[in-house]
Amino acid sequence: MARERILSGDSAPGGGDDDDRNLRPQRIADMVGQRDVIARLRIAIDAAMKRGEPLGHILFDGPPGLGKTTFATCIPQEMGARVEFASGAGLKAPKDLVPYLTNAEENSVLFIDEIHRLPTPVEEYLYTAMEDFRIDIVIGDGINARTHNLWLKPFTLIGATTRAGMLTGPLRDRFQIREHLGFYTVEELTEIVLRNASKLRLDLQADAAEEVARRSRSTPRIANNRLLWVRDYADSKANGQVTLQVAMDALKMQAIDKLGLDQQDRSYLETIIRVFGGGPVGIEAIAHTMNAATDTLTDEVEPFLLRSELLVRTPRGRVATAKAYQHLKLDPPEDGSDGGQTPLFN
Ligand code: ADP
Repeated sequence: MARERILSGDSAPGGGDDDDRNLRPQRIADMVGQRDVIARLRIAIDAAMKRGEPLGHILFDGPPGLGKTTFATCIPQEMGARVEFASGAGLKAPKDLVPYLTNAEENSVLFIDEIHRLPTPVEEYLYTAMEDFRIDIVIGDGINARTHNLWLKPFTLIGATTRAGMLTGPLRDRFQIREHLGFYTVEELTEIVLRNASKLRLDLQADAAEEVARRSRSTPRIANNRLLWVRDYADSKANGQVTLQVAMDALKMQAIDKLGLDQQDRSYLETIIRVFGGGPVGIEAIAHTMNAATDTLTDEVEPFLLRSELLVRTPRGRVATAKAYQHLKLDPPEDGSDGGQTPLFN
């Protein structure tokens, strides 16, 4: 079981490389955007600290890269509390959860990422831990087995999920605070890019920062990745200086276009348009043609295309919109229709 125990603020959760760790905000004040969420959390943190009680359990949901883990890093920091990081997929049986719960100190935080992936027995084991700070442990085997009640120190569970709909009602209802993280504006991402450029001591011009932000799919993690690439490109080709032109050249080399689409996004749209006449077409047919996994397309490719209005989902299948034809500079079908779903051109 992958397990990491850290003192809040000592380091960020594992998995990422050093750059990613260094760029992650450590305090709520360093976080950009999500103002309403932050305002509500500050009140809850303040009240819990005044009462000397643990913060209520918190559930964050939203697409990957929007700040769920960052909140789980910053909240304990605000409270001067310890935090342990676990992952839903890594907790295969209740016994995997026990050390996390028994090690939890008073008012500390346990963060479970991708909490919708917890197997049912582990999820059910969490119920009494969350509600009463109590677990049952079995000592001994066979007829000698005895169940003992073990009292836990009051702690806060922070759960994160990219699939809120997959959470069962009983688990969802045990979180007192539930927050949905939305996408970031270009202005917010520009601010993140500028702040991170200065953390990296990178000479990045404001218009270059905005261009990186604009091509980052409204997502801080993607903005950071684009920024790190732009830095490598500038170090190698432009004496470390990032002008607008250098940023555009760097992103072009990665085939990231003006809307932030990458090669896979474009080939998805091109498949619908060239092979299936613009749609409507089922996802399996697209996946087979592209030789790609259906899950990859539905989880990683489609959400951004739908949000960008390049794609629509209809009961009869996926349809490329007029904007997709325009963006790819492809001619619309002869009859000017895309299967009768969306007007191509007005
Ligand atoms: P999630 O857990 O939702 O997948 P993360 O919290 O790991 O996303 O965020 C990915 C990266 O994006 C972080 O390492 C951090 O650098 C950056 N980031 C996320 N949210 C913010 C924010 N509100 N302000 C500044 N940077 C952020």
